[in-house]
Amino acid sequence: MLLQDKIALIYGTANHRSFAWHIAQAFAREGARLILTFQNERLEKNVRELAETLPGTMILPCDVTEEAQVQAVYDRIGAEYGGLDAVVHAVAFARKEDLDGDFVQTSREGFQLAHDVSAYSLVAVTRPAVPLFEKRGGGTVLTLTYLGAERAVPNYNVMGVAKAALEASVRYLAMDLGPKNIRVNAISAGPVSTLAARGISGFTDILSVVRDRSPLRRNIDQDEVADTAVFLASQWARGITGETLHVDAGYHIMGL
Ligand code: NAP
Repeated sequence: MLLQDKIALIYGTANHRSFAWHIAQAFAREGARLILTFQNERLEKNVRELAETLPGTMILPCDVTEEAQVQAVYDRIGAEYGGLDAVVHAVAFARKEDLDGDFVQTSREGFQLAHDVSAYSLVAVTRPAVPLFEKRGGGTVLTLTYLGAERAVPNYNVMGVAKAALEASVRYLAMDLGPKNIRVNAISAGPVSTLAARGISGFTDILSVVRDRSPLRRNIDQDEVADTAVFLASQWARGITGETLHVDAGYHIMGL
């Protein structure tokens, strides 16, 4: 088992389709003990029911834009486990009106909100993890991104700009934290129909373009991303940091 006795904190479970939930199941299969967070009471029941299927999993509330809630998560983990090995950040948000039409229409507030929840939050959840990682001799941070950070994708708009900031944050965090044996990486996932994805106008068209044109001629699923997350969090990836690894059936290599 690749993550035997590792303690992993996973942000971003909304329902059974969430990347975070599939990563949680894969981490549990590989022997990790888990802490899952839920954003608000609306999601608590969902997350509690899912967590009950992975015995020993702790669930905690956390809106990643609230510093006090973020700190409370780490205080609780410190008290309960005394350390931490992995943080998975699978959180993003932009206003529906900013995921449709022309990027040039993005408001200042919409831009700030998307960047706060989807990019700055990686820094916010990594900083308080550092002392807990150090208690275990190092750690690993993973986040999820999308091709819209590198290329202009219709309707992805402000989220693409936020993902570019997220990918740059991965590199700067990796530079800062490497000397403490903390690795920071991103998985650039192909499109998958989740709650967040359905907020993007024309999402089903994106799915069919990738299916028709990717080298593997298909879409990916959450479990392919989850298995890659296991690899990146494991000793097998001990030489990899600051990287964005594409799990997208090869779509990003295509010129046409
Ligand atoms: P998802 O199931 O909707 O997960 C997104 C999660 O982010 C939800 O649990 C959501 O909670 C949470 N969230 C939003 N604002 C938050 C906040 N302020 N504090 C804490 N949590 C917050 O969708 P997903 O596709 O699995 O998304 C996970 C990650 O994968 C995201 O970073 C997304 O951009 C990325 N990604 C997705 C795709 C795709 O095609 N699905 C492709 C590449 C990358 P609420 O439901 O309450 O908002």
